[in-house]
Amino acid sequence: MKTPEHLTEWQHAVERTRSKSPSSFEQWFAGVQLESIEPGLVRLACKDAFVRDWVSAHFLPELRHHLEPVLGEHRVEWTIRSVLERPVCTPAERRPSAAPPPPDPTAQRAGARRAREERPARLRGLANLNAKFTFANFVVGPSNQLAYAAARASAGGGGARYNPLFLCGGTGLGKTHLMQSIAHQVLADRPGARVVYVSAEDFTIEFIQALQDKKMDEFRARYRAGCDVLLVDDIQFLAGREQTQEEFFHTFNALRDADKPIVVSSDKYPQQLQRMPERLVSRFGSGLVADVQVPQLETRVAILRKYAEREHIELTDDVAVLIAQSVQSNVRELEGAIIRLAAKASLTGQSIATEFARSEIARVSSRSATVISVGDIQRVVCSHFRLSNAELLSKDRHKSVAFARQVAMYLCRQRLKSSFPELGRAFGNRDHTTVMSAVRKVEQLAETDPEVKAHLDELERKLSASEG
Ligand code: ADP
Ligand code: MG
Repeated sequence: MKTPEHLTEWQHAVERTRSKSPSSFEQWFAGVQLESIEPGLVRLACKDAFVRDWVSAHFLPELRHHLEPVLGEHRVEWTIRSVLERPVCTPAERRPSAAPPPPDPTAQRAGARRAREERPARLRGLANLNAKFTFANFVVGPSNQLAYAAARASAGGGGARYNPLFLCGGTGLGKTHLMQSIAHQVLADRPGARVVYVSAEDFTIEFIQALQDKKMDEFRARYRAGCDVLLVDDIQFLAGREQTQEEFFHTFNALRDADKPIVVSSDKYPQQLQRMPERLVSRFGSGLVADVQVPQLETRVAILRKYAEREHIELTDDVAVLIAQSVQSNVRELEGAIIRLAAKASLTGQSIATEFARSEIARVSSRSATVISVGDIQRVVCSHFRLSNAELLSKDRHKSVAFARQVAMYLCRQRLKSSFPELGRAFGNRDHTTVMSAVRKVEQLAETDPEVKAHLDELERKLSASEG
């Protein structure tokens, strides 16, 4: 449980760590946010893997040392989120947030939002955009061509404009990047334009808050009359939230009647959205539905090249191709791979090629000649965690069962390189996004949690033994 008591301790630890090197601390912790704190576990969120790796290497030992007396032996779990509501240090003021936030998370986030609302309107439009998510930084290939062209048209860059534009596809394939590119483009072309980019989650939170504060007029003004372009990210979040859906439905109609562009993103096609009323689903499908797919090898190589160029990472063509061949699932992981390699290479003073070769050799040599199957991995995981195969594949969401299942998915993905949908089917017909998030979660835990790492090592050993 999040208690004010621990929050105070957190802030003390922050202050003490910060005092060692204030300016660098502030720079890094503007990209870090406390999610929760309890005995044994601190959850942090950060903007990207680079911040996570740097903060873990340079600040966490000290911070944890100060937290130890309060929390005891504790793990640190990281989540990566593109938007942080209340970073430890605010980038503008470079000051940790003063008072402990109120315990209710909704009120808390609305509080952060109110602070943001007080900024001048022009800045507000840009405040939650990632400066790197521009059309110029987006690599176009067959997997995303249509979505890209449609996004450009929505931004007023020529071509027929469809309203709404519905962007869909798996996670990490560039939906948020395209949506924010639209926002940047519109603001560049028409600086006075009122562009609202919001996640469906934030839309929901703002709506609830406006209801509570009896400020629905303001809320509606912001999203209807006061809005020239509306971009709503991850609309699947509205599933089952009937009141918010209703409000969004009216917002949508008002804007479309006024011929204002609306762009919505989702991890599924409109018809596949769960617990979404038919009238919204049919509206989502009434303009253009454009999907983003997993990019082909050539596009992945081009993305790596562009990324390396932008971040001044030295990357030879050979290594780019090798990385693109070994990371196939999504662009976020592709970027994660190059960031990790670049960070390791710079910390060890090696070239990225040397680091890459090293990790590649480790990966290949851990794979064995005899082919093991998903079934083999499931069997080994079940016996390790003392579960039955039926339990592993069941809908049981009890923590220990869910964890074993996630580990099994992770191992299958690592060892067999099976596709996410394929694994979803092999694990009791689950959605591929479930497998993706399981794999990502275990990947993160493997880096931050020694206990999880120990389980994984032991399982790797057992699997190698079972391969004979
Ligand atoms: P989604 O919203 O679909 O989950 P994002 O838009 O957040 O995915 O993309 C994940 C990461 O991959 C971001 O850093 C983004 O810049 C990058 N990315 C995705 N597609 C491309 C692309 N075609 N060109 C360049 N970068 C991309
Ligand atoms: Mg996104």
